[in-house]
Amino acid sequence: MKQCPFCQIVNKQIPALTVYEDRDFMAFLDIYPKVYGHTLVIPKKHYRWVYDVKPYTKYWQLARQIGLAALRAFNARWISFMTVGEEVPHAHIHVLPRTEADHQPAVVNFSKIVKLSRNQLKAIAIRLKQEMGGV
Ligand SMILES: [Zn+2]
Repeated sequence: MKQCPFCQIVNKQIPALTVYEDRDFMAFLDIYPKVYGHTLVIPKKHYRWVYDVKPYTKYWQLARQIGLAALRAFNARWISFMTVGEEVPHAHIHVLPRTEADHQPAVVNFSKIVKLSRNQLKAIAIRLKQEMGGV
């Protein structure tokens, strides 16, 4: 889809801090992180909703893999996986590494953004990429 920001990320028309990429999927940092290490997992092909994505099982397996890597990379206590789908019309799973100190409620408040510099975000991406075995 031409105007879709995530399709533009897939096509490298918009830069992103990518932490994982294969033939079908891609994971990159949310530019408006709700917690430290907030990552989005998307299919490269444009699907409107998470439940439309094929292969569906592989998609969630990758989200789990990113979540487990984030647990190790950021000493998170647990991972929240969220799908909302109304912000950007391209399927995406939010992977949210959680700690008691993230000052977020059980269901992450998406209007609360963690302020991180570009360099901090770059460091997070590198750390997560390392944990995914990509560096
Ligand atoms: Zn798209």
